[in-house]
Order: sequence, then structure tokens, then C-alpha cells
Amino acid sequence: MSSKAPLVDQFARRISYLRLSVTDRCDLRCAYCMPERQVFLPRADVLSLEELHELSLGFIERGITKLRLTGGEPLVRRDVIELVKALGRRIGAGLDELTMTTNGTRLADFADDIAAAGVRRINVSLDTLDRDRFTRLARRDSLPQVLEGIAAAREAGLAVKINTVALKGINEDEIPDLVAWAHGQGLDITLIEVMPLGEVEEDRFDHYLPLSAVRDRLDKRWALTPSGHRTGGPARYFDIAETGGRLGLITPLTNNFCEGCNRIRVTATGQLYACLGGNERVDLRAALRSDRPEEALGEALDLAMRIKPERHHFAIDRPGAAPALARHMSTTGG
Ligand code: SAM
Ligand code: SF4
Repeated sequence: MSSKAPLVDQFARRISYLRLSVTDRCDLRCAYCMPERQVFLPRADVLSLEELHELSLGFIERGITKLRLTGGEPLVRRDVIELVKALGRRIGAGLDELTMTTNGTRLADFADDIAAAGVRRINVSLDTLDRDRFTRLARRDSLPQVLEGIAAAREAGLAVKINTVALKGINEDEIPDLVAWAHGQGLDITLIEVMPLGEVEEDRFDHYLPLSAVRDRLDKRWALTPSGHRTGGPARYFDIAETGGRLGLITPLTNNFCEGCNRIRVTATGQLYACLGGNERVDLRAALRSDRPEEALGEALDLAMRIKPERHHFAIDRPGAAPALARHMSTTGG
């Protein structure tokens, strides 16, 4: 019998937030995320638009109230706007919030449609405001398009939050300026520690920058006051009196954030990963493509709740160490 019960894991955590990757493909090649010659999945392995929709409805039925579309780059998938529109119709009818994480390169084309579908907030990843640096880091000269995309999103009425990965020796010196820039535009910004996911060409240990160090530096420039603000994600927030803006810090490595975990991730091939930092996995594509998809999906979600681990096991403390997990963030859905 398939269950319609809310998703609650073995540690009594209520799972209400799904991050759904709609593609593993991307038009950038951020050095910490994927190698230049990333091999992408054959299209037949990736869930169809119908499957993504059916899956999302199955999750909503089980109490997922917040759904974030991600990737890879969600906006490089041609039909993604159809999914945004279809899921947008569930806002207020099961879904509280539909959001997206994007690199922004194609936002100028899609911002109006995204806003019209009922999306209110999006996250745009931006690690530097220096064009040469951007080109080196993302291996593509796309900063102007990203900035245009952010402007278009704001014009369309979307609240934009900037996500910045803090990288030692790469954008470390620029972080205070990035924060000042974002706040100057009325945008929130969240800093993220680089995580050991998937092989990339460089040793990520070289670029690991604990946010405790960043915070110390920001504290010298501004007064950071811990804020009670929450968005259902793992960030802790601070208000900065001088800029009038809010700063989020996501510190998976220096500060364990697993206790209140409310989220799961599904890859573009329908693999549910119960934890970003673990290999516990359930094959939802097999369930969807079985001869009794509804029951099989229900059983698969029940299984996911039984195997979700209590905490992640990241470590980035040894130079040259293999990545904690073989899969990339672009696969699991950041
Ligand atoms: N392409 C979209 C983007 O860049 O926003 C969505 C997918 S991307 C994988 C989601 C987020 O994960 C981005 O903010 C990116 O900077 C971050 N990310 C990718 N690899 C990471 C890693 N190894 N450690 C920490 N964050 C990472
Ligand atoms: Fe693409 Fe996002 Fe990964 Fe950069 S972080 S390579 S934009 S998926």
C-alpha cells in the first residue's frame, strides 16, 4: 500500500524541502565544481519533463512544501520553464515556495516567465565581480550576462540572493567588497565553504577557506549581529548595521549543520540522495518507470526516510586527499 504520510526520517526530522536537479549540464565550468572536460549524462538517463513533474507532485503529496530547482544549470534545460509553470500552479496548493538556484547566465531571457509562474525568490551564484577572475574561475567569459541576468530578475520583481563560494587565494580578498556590492543593491548574500565533492583538476584543499576566518575579517570592517532570520536552509544569518544588509554563512565543514536537516536531493536521473555528504541513495527513476509507479514511489520514499543518515562525513583536512564523495555538486544538485 502506498503511503501519503508526511516524510519523517529515522531521527524524527520532518523532511519538507526538496532540491531537484533538472539537468547535470552547465554552460560554465567553475573550477571547484567540475573539470573542463566534464562528461555529461546521456539524455535518456535524465528524467523527462513529465517524470520530473510527476515526481514533484509525489513529493508534494508527501509534505514537501519547499521545492528548489537546481542542476547543473537549470536554465540550460530547454523545457525547464514548462516545469516551472506547472509547479508554479501548486504554490498555495501544497507548495509554499518554488525557488531556483542558477548561475544567472540565461536569467535575462527567463526572469519574466519565472516571476510570472509564481516564483518569488531565486539564488544566483556569483563568486567574483572581476571579469578576468570570473573568466578564470568559471572558465567562461560570462560575467556581463550574469550581471544582466541579476538586473533582469530584479526588474521582474524577483528577490535575488547571491551565493558566493569562499575560495582561499581566489576571491578571499574580494569577499568584503562582494558583500558591500550585494548590500548596496539591496541583495542578501550568503557565503559557502567549498566542499569536497567530485574530482576537479586542482586540489581543493589549496582553496579551502574556513568561514570562521572570513568572519573575523568582516568583523573588523563591520559590526555583525547574529540574526534570528531563517529560510529553511542551513545558513546562519547576521545583520550588518553599516550596510543595512543580511549576510548568511553556510559552514558544512567548520560547523555541523545536520541536526535540523529538513532536506533531500534528487539528481536529474531521479536518484534521491538522502544526504549531500553521503552515499545513501534510492532510485526513484526505477520506481517511476516501473509498472506500478505510484506504489513504487511511495515505497522508495519510505525507504529514503529509513536510510537518511544522522550527519554528513565531509573532511577536507588533508592535502591531496580523495574527494569525500565521487559525485560532483552539479550531479547531486547544489
Ligand atoms: N549552476 C547553478 C549555480 O551555479 O547556481 C546551480 C547548481 S550549482 C552546483 C549550486 C551551488 O553549488 C552554486 O552556488 C555553486 O557555487 C555551489 N557549489 C558547486 N560545487 C561546490 C563545492 N564543491 N563546494 C561548495 N559549493 C559548491
Ligand atoms: Fe555550473 Fe553551477 Fe557548477 Fe558553476 S557551480 S559549474 S555554474 S553547476
